Amino acid sequence: MKIVLWFRRDLRIHDQILIEEANKSDAEFLGFAQAELDAVFQNTSEVRWGERKKQFYLESVADIKGQFERKGIPFWFSDLPLIKALAELEKTFCFDEIWCQNTAGWEEQEELSWVAKKYKLHRFESQSLYQLEDLPFELKSLPLVFTEFRKKVERYSTVKKSCSSEICFRGAENAITPALPAHPTLAQHPNSAFPFSGGEQSALNRMEEWIWKGNHIAKYKETRNESIGTEYSSKFSSYLAWGCLSPRAIFWEIKKYEQEVVANESTYWLYFELLWRDFFHFTCRKDNRAFFKSMPSNLFKEPEAFKAWKEGKTENAFINAHMIELAATGFMSNRGRQNVASYLIHHLKLDWWLGAQHFERELIDYEAANNYGNWTYLAGVGNDPRKDRIFNPELQKQRYDPQGKYVALWT
Ligand SMILES: Cc1cc2nc3c(=O)[nH]c(=O)nc-3n(C[C@H](O)[C@H](O)[C@H](O)COP(=O)(O)OP(=O)(O)OC[C@H]3O[C@@H](n4cnc5c(N)ncnc54)[C@H](O)[C@@H]3O)c2cc1C
Repeated sequence: MKIVLWFRRDLRIHDQILIEEANKSDAEFLGFAQAELDAVFQNTSEVRWGERKKQFYLESVADIKGQFERKGIPFWFSDLPLIKALAELEKTFCFDEIWCQNTAGWEEQEELSWVAKKYKLHRFESQSLYQLEDLPFELKSLPLVFTEFRKKVERYSTVKKSCSSEICFRGAENAITPALPAHPTLAQHPNSAFPFSGGEQSALNRMEEWIWKGNHIAKYKETRNESIGTEYSSKFSSYLAWGCLSPRAIFWEIKKYEQEVVANESTYWLYFELLWRDFFHFTCRKDNRAFFKSMPSNLFKEPEAFKAWKEGKTENAFINAHMIELAATGFMSNRGRQNVASYLIHHLKLDWWLGAQHFERELIDYEAANNYGNWTYLAGVGNDPRKDRIFNPELQKQRYDPQGKYVALWT
């Protein structure tokens, strides 16, 4: 039997259900990843992969590909459209089954459906902290509001132990795998809050540095609304988005830190934020296409105000600083994201879709559920529609950048 392990948003070896399952089998395995790096958005001419996002992704693929190949397991990457990529792979490795992560997102689910029509496909749950079967309710009864979700999960669910991380299965014999496509190595901006490279090793180093060496987790609740530097928040999002870091691994590291060092509001808050991620993840799984609302049909016409927002040339210096940071680094703080999104929706009165697609292209940590979940939440069109999620940029600047240091850094 020959099996393809298709890595999607789970580019890691630790806490990897695919590896745990493969270890139980005597089949021959080959690793596989695919991304259409030149794709454009459906109803615009804009590319979907910003250069920094592309670089981080390819670094993450290179990391897992290297780990596989050092163990003698071939790993194939393709930037062709999925069906073509699998057809090419079939020519050299005549496989019987594909195993992969069940990834949240409408397009992600569509891809799985196409593949399942043509091949024997097994989907495994691994993207969230809690798995579907850990929830104290069925997906169709998922609470509409975060607080209700959090309270039920905190009370009735438990986080499973991580999977074993050792590769003990057999690699496919005589499979020649192509090299990764070349990509430009962009220099890190000296002021970047996210000057890190992609890949599992980099993810695990970051967790070690931020939690254990720096003890930053112990004061996270006080610093998490800041915007300057690498330490005010965990910067785990890009690693979580591409699966270089497992949310369960973070959870068990928090528990260990709480036992060995300190348990306080800050250590709890990191878990609390992972629950937000799970909430959007499961809402996206439940609603699937409806989670993304209807895409406007006229996004081809790019309004001038949107161009100014994207380029950091609006009338507001605080907003501009954030958009300049995003363009220069592929990252922006949560506080910044809330402010620029609110500005686009409520001050510029533009369609939130424009902003969400721009974030999809530019953010290194883009993931469908978190991005579209946060945008619909702020636009008041999600599950919990309120019209008062409006941030006054002047008041926000006074509160979060009173001395103008952040604005001065980026403008
Ligand atoms: C308009 C908008 C778009 C966003 N798009 C994305 C996106 O595409 N990908 C993404 O990972 N996050 C997104 N976020 C959520 C959040 O801004 C980032 O996860 C966070 O800023 C990343 O930095 P960090 O890892 O240092 O976060 P920390 O503050 O250290 O939080 C730890 C982890 O908790 C999760 N988390 C934190 N805040 C949120 C939140 N509001 N919603 C869901 N999960 C959260 C993330 O996985 C994060 O890595 C978006 C927020 C807004 C307002």
